Amino acid sequence: MALVRTFSVALIWRIVLLSLAIVAAVAAAMWPEPQPGLSLLMVLLALGAAFSLFRYVNDTNRRLARFFESVRYSDFAIRFASGKEKGDSFAEVNRQFNEVLEAFRQTRAEKEANLLFLNTIVQHLSAGILVFDTQSAVLVSNSAAFQLLGVYRLHHLHDLPERHKALTQFVQQLSSKGKMLYQPESGRQLAVQGVSVSLQGRAVRLLTLQNIHPELQRKEVDAWRNLTRVLRHEIMNSVTPIVSLVETAQDIVRHDLDNSPASADLTEALEVVASRSRGLMNFVEAYRSFSAIPAPKMDDFSVKNLLERVVQLTIPEMREHKILLEFFVQPEDLRIQADAGQLEMVLINLVKNAREALASAEIGAPRITLRAGADPKGKTFIEVEDNGPGISSELLDEVFIPFFTTKATGTGVGLSISRQIMQMHGGDIRVSSAAGGGARFVLEF
Ligand code: ADP
Repeated sequence: MALVRTFSVALIWRIVLLSLAIVAAVAAAMWPEPQPGLSLLMVLLALGAAFSLFRYVNDTNRRLARFFESVRYSDFAIRFASGKEKGDSFAEVNRQFNEVLEAFRQTRAEKEANLLFLNTIVQHLSAGILVFDTQSAVLVSNSAAFQLLGVYRLHHLHDLPERHKALTQFVQQLSSKGKMLYQPESGRQLAVQGVSVSLQGRAVRLLTLQNIHPELQRKEVDAWRNLTRVLRHEIMNSVTPIVSLVETAQDIVRHDLDNSPASADLTEALEVVASRSRGLMNFVEAYRSFSAIPAPKMDDFSVKNLLERVVQLTIPEMREHKILLEFFVQPEDLRIQADAGQLEMVLINLVKNAREALASAEIGAPRITLRAGADPKGKTFIEVEDNGPGISSELLDEVFIPFFTTKATGTGVGLSISRQIMQMHGGDIRVSSAAGGGARFVLEF
């Protein structure tokens, strides 16, 4: 209000001055004794007052126009000079303009900060997020989504590679809500949840992606472990009395029966039953380790020392089979938090598998390489690579299944125990191989 009053006062005194100057000029010209000099002076004064009035009104309009323009184009960077020399009312108007612009500036900065905050959260989520518009163009995405899909960038749904065909179809057919599970490649099982919503009048499809492969694996191993425990218990309960009964029967035949051909046949039959039963007991006993792995005792130790121990323990066999065994650790002082005994067991088992694979084929220069280091994200890894016959792609997913073996005398528990140990360390074990191109097992922590 005060502002309007000062503006009116400034306007009124200019109009009054202009009017007075005109009246005085007319009076001086019409006076009984005309005063041309005074009249001219008054005309000049009237012109000056008119010019001042024009400038005053025009300047105010110009400032208003600039102000509205900056609001319209969201250009809040401009500032109005104080304009004190033009009077207090101008200074006040300019101050008010600047305050309004500052309020706009702050609101915009807050909005931008909120947007940045939300964007940072979306980027740091471990779940993948993708938002598509009605034309299937990507509106929002995060790095977890790219990582899970194995792509560097994604602008449109149709840019997804062929292995994600199931996902493309799912997004195209998504009407309100939906879930699906698919496996784009070995070692990755994606759980996808989709919802179609309208945001500010725009229809969008929002997708969240998660790799539940490790959880499924854990469940699978748990199921195998429970099954093994029950089977072992049942088989042992049945076979133990059979073994002792057969031994008693053997004693009776040996001491109480005569040496007739029938008793010789009986002795032989009982011997077969006894040896098969003992074999079955030993076989079942071998799986005890699978269902009873103790919790790891975590320790901090040097990876180089661990690999040196593994090499020392396995080198005699390598020499015998003329296999070159080498190891590399980068950086050399790499340390790890783990159960040293369990890791040693895993590595010895991987080296043993590699040696057996090399022995099963005619390889010119058989070689096993142990390599340890940190991946680009700083996660420690240890890998065991051989240049043996490799594993065919159909079998890649099978080798970690308990009791899976391709060897005549194998038990098929080595790799599944290794996976259990790695999972108990919060990590995993992965395999990559091409038939004929060797195999590489990587322990990830
Ligand atoms: P086992 O050694 O008793 O067979 P494992 O669980 O250790 O049990 O291995 C399972 C199977 O994985 C093996 O029978 C073999 O077919 C395959 N395998 C493991 N390591 C290798 C390797 N380095 N090269 C080729 N095949 C391998």
